[in-house]
Amino acid sequence: MARLELDDVTKVFDTSAETIIAVEELNLDIKDGEFIVVVGPSGCGKSTTLRMIAGLETVTDGEIRLGDERINEKSPKDRDIAMVFQSYALYPHKTVRENMAYGLHLSTDLDGEEISRRVQEAAEMMGIEDLLDKKPSSLSGGQQQRVATGRAIVREPSLFLFDEPLSNLDAKLRKHMRTELSRIHAEVGITTVYVTHDQEEAMTMADRIVILDQGKLQQIGEPKEVYHEPVNRFVANFIGSPSMNFVDVELERNSDGSGTLVGEDFSYDVSSRLLQPLDSGTTEVEFGIRPENVTIDPDAPTEKSIETTVDVVEIVGSDNFIYLDLAGEEFRVRTPSEIEPSEGETVRLTFDEDDVHLFDSASGESLV
Ligand code: ATP
Repeated sequence: MARLELDDVTKVFDTSAETIIAVEELNLDIKDGEFIVVVGPSGCGKSTTLRMIAGLETVTDGEIRLGDERINEKSPKDRDIAMVFQSYALYPHKTVRENMAYGLHLSTDLDGEEISRRVQEAAEMMGIEDLLDKKPSSLSGGQQQRVATGRAIVREPSLFLFDEPLSNLDAKLRKHMRTELSRIHAEVGITTVYVTHDQEEAMTMADRIVILDQGKLQQIGEPKEVYHEPVNRFVANFIGSPSMNFVDVELERNSDGSGTLVGEDFSYDVSSRLLQPLDSGTTEVEFGIRPENVTIDPDAPTEKSIETTVDVVEIVGSDNFIYLDLAGEEFRVRTPSEIEPSEGETVRLTFDEDDVHLFDSASGESLV
């Protein structure tokens, strides 16, 4: 069983200048065979978390268990973990075959025949059989990435760790490698923790996504869960591209429980169903709506629409990204390509109430 558990894990860096809490009381329970993607902005503690799991960084407080065994004090080579780095970290003077076999020669007592068999099998899986006798310097970035992954696979570890493995590749190759890595995971089924700052990578690859901010866990859930039910404004903003629109509004309530969201430049009627979960005293909230959930509709009723002006139209192929001006703030709408308003045009925006999010203005916690 390669279940991975982090219990109240904290990492503090004490430098002469300051004390940095890089990871704070992090709790994770990762199931055997799960593909977990850790995301968050630069400096949120992703790499530190991964490095503690790998044993490359000590744990200040808390416990890490792999397969029910505490591994805090184990040296990296005894942890049965294989890690793929952003830089690939291949030995330049060794061939691909030697790079892939080296770790097995060092850390196992497998015979040469078994090592060759494993290298061949992993090379086939990664589609790099033709490269086995080449040196890393003669390979493209994508090929080096495959070799680095192949080298991790031959070890047949209990746990794979990936630290931004695709960030040195161009956009097209990155998308291709995402699919490849997902396929490999489906084939080998090894528990995986994958770190990236790219939320799209997280959404497409993860069984569950872990979202960190300033060393603290914000949410863990399946991609559709963190997209549809973010627990706070931070997660709502981080997941989804282009990102969610946020507008400060005041809530006016009617005696029947329905109400109106009043912004600086608009008012929008909403039903009692939307407002029901809110505390009756709540008046100031932040309203959130995703660009893909907004429709441009000239026939929308005034009380259920926002009238505003188009700033910029960005044509991206299948969709258009429309940037509008709402009380001096940017408001983003994603439309099908046939909806193409002119810049400077006044349009009417409407949306389905089911897609509306409301956040506590002070704490950022999700209310609806
Ligand atoms: P990035 O996406 O930029 O790689 P990250 O989310 O991986 O960022 P970490 O590298 O884990 O973030 O860093 C978390 C915090 O810990 C940051 O404030 C960073 O400056 C600090 N930190 C990381 N390593 C050290 C170290 N060896 N000494 C001091 N501070 C460190």
